[in-house]
Amino acid sequence: MVTKITIAIDGFSSCGKSTLAKALAQKLHYNYIDTGAMYRCVTLYCLRNGLIDEKQNVDEEKLKENLSKITVDFQFNSHTKISETHLNGENVEHEIRSMEVSDNVSKVSAIHDVREKMVTLQRMMGKHKAVVLDGRDIGTHVFPYAELKIFMTADEDVRARRRMDEYTAHGQFFTLDEVKHNLQKRDYADTHRKENPLTKAKDAIVLDNTDLTPEQQLDYVLKLITDMQLTKDPVE
Ligand code: C5P
Repeated sequence: MVTKITIAIDGFSSCGKSTLAKALAQKLHYNYIDTGAMYRCVTLYCLRNGLIDEKQNVDEEKLKENLSKITVDFQFNSHTKISETHLNGENVEHEIRSMEVSDNVSKVSAIHDVREKMVTLQRMMGKHKAVVLDGRDIGTHVFPYAELKIFMTADEDVRARRRMDEYTAHGQFFTLDEVKHNLQKRDYADTHRKENPLTKAKDAIVLDNTDLTPEQQLDYVLKLITDMQLTKDPVE
């Protein structure tokens, strides 16, 4: 029998977690779950429905009342070969990557009921293994028994530059300082929140990709998987 594993990738904002996770999922024929996209969906819902005011305060009571109305799922697009994020049936893959969503997501993701709902969904989606998840609390909380845990990090300037280039490629223009400020703000909130803050799981392997290309980081992790000596090698 082929051994299917759960791969948990956690780390700071814009470290290239999703690039690595997508490449691994493709190579291993695993499912990919972008847990950040799920929190971004809830944030987009809040923004669209007036649940966040101009001072970035979230109306938590209203959000809790509305949580049952929010559905988040991923649908594979056979043209783009990408698993795209849907909010209540609508494809919001691009909209959830906006700076406005990035600016508000850490507040929304710190709310207990939101986390509870998202974690339940993530555990359901990943229950059959053969899955790669990226986020902030995957190895510590969502799947603490994941067979492989990676904790990603990279130099802050390099991360900001990469994220700025991504925005530019999508026609959104921000200065390096603006992007860096957003990363710093999110990293601070994500590492300091009460519930399941971002932290390295004790058994996670640290991957600093400051000087690595996407191909190099993929090779590094594939080698780790090969070295795990599973019953049958999932790396073909
Ligand atoms: O990964 P991404 O940058 O898209 O995540 C957006 C935000 O979602 C993070 O800054 C964090 O606040 C939240 N998040 C989380 N737990 C996860 C994944 C993301 O709190 N597992």
